[in-house]
Amino acid sequence: MKFHSTRKSTPSIYFSESLLMGLAPDGGLLIPDHFPDFSKSDMAQLALASFQDIAKMIAKSFTEDDLLHNKIDKICDEAFNFPVPLKTLRNDTAFLELYHGPTCAFKDIGARFLASAISQLQSEKKQSLTVLVATSGDTGSAVASAFYKKPFVDVIVLYPHGKISPRQEIQLTCWGENIESFAVQGDFDDCQRMVKQAFLDPWWKTNKNLISANSISVGRILPQTFYYAWASLKYFNETGNKPGFIIPSGNLGNATACLWAKKMGFPIREVVMSTNANHSVLDYALTGVFHPHATLTTLANAMDVGNPSNIERILDFSPDHQEFKNEVKVLSVNDRQIKDTIQNGQKNWGEVFCPHTATAVFVREQLKTPHWIIVATAHPAKFESIVEPLICRTVRIPKALEQILDRPTFKKIIPADLESLKQEII
Ligand SMILES: *Cc1c(COP(=O)(O)O)cnc(C)c1O
Repeated sequence: MKFHSTRKSTPSIYFSESLLMGLAPDGGLLIPDHFPDFSKSDMAQLALASFQDIAKMIAKSFTEDDLLHNKIDKICDEAFNFPVPLKTLRNDTAFLELYHGPTCAFKDIGARFLASAISQLQSEKKQSLTVLVATSGDTGSAVASAFYKKPFVDVIVLYPHGKISPRQEIQLTCWGENIESFAVQGDFDDCQRMVKQAFLDPWWKTNKNLISANSISVGRILPQTFYYAWASLKYFNETGNKPGFIIPSGNLGNATACLWAKKMGFPIREVVMSTNANHSVLDYALTGVFHPHATLTTLANAMDVGNPSNIERILDFSPDHQEFKNEVKVLSVNDRQIKDTIQNGQKNWGEVFCPHTATAVFVREQLKTPHWIIVATAHPAKFESIVEPLICRTVRIPKALEQILDRPTFKKIIPADLESLKQEII
């Protein structure tokens, strides 16, 4: 199985090569040449498999004749050492909790698979490389935690100084060893600009062997298909109905993974994206015209994306507007509705939701049809400054997060230019 660019001007490459590549050389995103077909498998049999077993089965089918094929068991065992519960909320609605990893958001799942796979590859080659990542919060902590103490990999995280929550900052600055985080005197766009410059800069290329670990990496999208496959099988086996998924969406990586799982023949009825006030994908669904816009700030800040990269992967499947509308529905949820949903969460569902998950819950409340799985992308304790005033009590902090919050932190503030970063790390 090989991967090619959405822009189709580069030859297909193996999975282990695509892992080390963020964008394809022609500027497109990597997608599989074709998808394995599991639709003829014995679904009742598969439904008995654990999340880890489904993960291994899918990962092996994407790595036939690849260097990593024999390492998949090890990579999955190392990466997925926490539960992924599918909880029944009502007889026609379930809740897929993707926040039991070390940084309490679904990004742990993709980042930990990527980190294990890359460190396997580099340990064989005995070559080190540097992951450079800009973050507005969740991505940086998932990547830092996933690569912490992994041999042959260093990580540099850039985040905007003063623009993230205190708890988010601790999760970025508590590591040490092979992880270095810098508070950049600028905004997220400055951080991203520095990362892009570094990738084009000869000094960084020769001295640092840079790779990216942002959400366009195919090494993060593929592992996200595992939980859609596993949860749909389980729901289908238990209820006899194919579920639809409602996915809190920003850069559209998580929704892309669900569409990939559907393509592989798992029992997924339909895919709905819940977005916040950032509206470029909603506009596309309504008009067939895609116009990126400047990012709008909302309560669901990990979904604040005005120009979602993964639209390119989705349009590659469904270039026609009508086809797109058959494939996915998009519903937008504003801050007022997010607040109301969090406030009424206990009463309506017996749950406390993070602001991102709240968008999917709100959408579920609008849909009249049965059999939905709400994708819960982060633990509410990560966003306590929003959630706690709304529910008028504190949210219990999960053990994993508590352990991180107890660690000592090292903070370095730098000006928003690449030369200053270089001075810090040489
Ligand atoms: C990143 C993130 C999202 C958005 O996911 P995409 O794959 O970018 O669409 C939603 N919720 C949380 C908590 C996130 O961290």
